Amino acid sequence: MKDRSQALFAQAERLIPGGVNSPVRAFKAVGGAPVFMNAGRGARICDVDGNEYIDYVMSWGPLILGHTHPAVVAAISAQAEKGTSFGAPTPLEVELAGLIIEAFPNLEMVRMMSSGTEAVMTAIRLARAFTGRDRIVKFAGCYHGHSDALLARAGSGVATLGLPDSPGVPGSLAELTITIPFNDPGAVAAVFAKHGPDIAAVIVEPVAGNMGVVLPQPGFLSRLRELTRAHGSLLIFDEVITGFRLAWGGYPGGGGIDPDLTCLGKIIGGGLPVGAVGGKRAVMEQLAPLGPVYQAGTLSGNPLAMAAGLATLTILRESTECYEAMKRYAFSLCEEMQGLFNRKGMPVTINRLDSMFTIFFTAGPVCDLDTARRSDTELFARFFRGMMSNGVNPPPSQFEAWFVSLAHDLLDAEKTLEACARTLETM
Ligand SMILES: *Cc1c(COP(=O)(O)O)cnc(C)c1O
Repeated sequence: MKDRSQALFAQAERLIPGGVNSPVRAFKAVGGAPVFMNAGRGARICDVDGNEYIDYVMSWGPLILGHTHPAVVAAISAQAEKGTSFGAPTPLEVELAGLIIEAFPNLEMVRMMSSGTEAVMTAIRLARAFTGRDRIVKFAGCYHGHSDALLARAGSGVATLGLPDSPGVPGSLAELTITIPFNDPGAVAAVFAKHGPDIAAVIVEPVAGNMGVVLPQPGFLSRLRELTRAHGSLLIFDEVITGFRLAWGGYPGGGGIDPDLTCLGKIIGGGLPVGAVGGKRAVMEQLAPLGPVYQAGTLSGNPLAMAAGLATLTILRESTECYEAMKRYAFSLCEEMQGLFNRKGMPVTINRLDSMFTIFFTAGPVCDLDTARRSDTELFARFFRGMMSNGVNPPPSQFEAWFVSLAHDLLDAEKTLEACARTLETM
């Protein structure tokens, strides 16, 4: 029964472009009307028709503790009683900045804002101002939010909907963004050989999550550090997904790589709108009011978002076992699902790092956008619909990550596997 969802979607389509406020929610890639959600608790969500699902979207990453974690809800409520926004600094911002800087050895200062898009946009502006250069290098399939400079060959919704580079971005701006394949150090070297003195920054998701999960090959990230350093360019890690997802702090495999700027979002807001950019003091001090690079926000460092983020990070810091637990859950779920696909004789490639994974419907390997695109998206769509009708909510696109939270337990794993087995019977 999806009657209420369908009625709401029909109404929404008249009022909101495509009926949604963010494109991948529209189920364009998987068919049918999107499911409207009503409530969530732990690993489960309920739609407006009363159907329950084990959730692997988890708000696209932020809800690492699960839906409506009591500590997060209490923190938000307590702050709401005191005030939702002042347009003046509050103690919570200082506390959250302190926690983030403690967790990221390479960060000396951090500026809070309201979305990951804003964080990346600011990082790019800072890199350009700091280096006095204009060109940016990014990787095909990496998504860095929807700011003009970064929509070229972006992942996520852009990949899902098969859109060309977005109209509305001036050619003169788009041509400053050079896009090359992920995991291709030769392409990076070639770009630096040609444009080295003009490159302000290389931006990368250290583990790609927006073309589906794609791990960096050994040596790829350290090569980026070498080349950027040799040419006086900045290295920007976009850790909006990976920050606090894989470990307390940033991508653990990035240890020692030491990017100049790091973008954060998602988990640090505990499910409320947030973004942050952090980095070396010399670069961060370029930001107004200390420096000339302007950046601002009416709701930046919003007390509710700071309270939710603080509650979330505090639990992650205090629970030494939490990352191991999520990793164990995802590992065994992926192993068992792989077994079901094997028995069915259906070739899939499951790329996983700890608690994030993607099931690509291709024999693989998947190591960049081109190999991700070899996936059979029709087959993925059938799998997705089968899982939904069996009570599991995977991301509605082949090119997105499934997220496991601390709330997912053995019963959820069992039910997910049952749903997978039942779905495969019908395929
Ligand atoms: C989600 C995401 C963003 C954008 O964050 P928003 O809060 O949606 O603006 C940027 N970079 C990466 C890697 C992301 O996954």
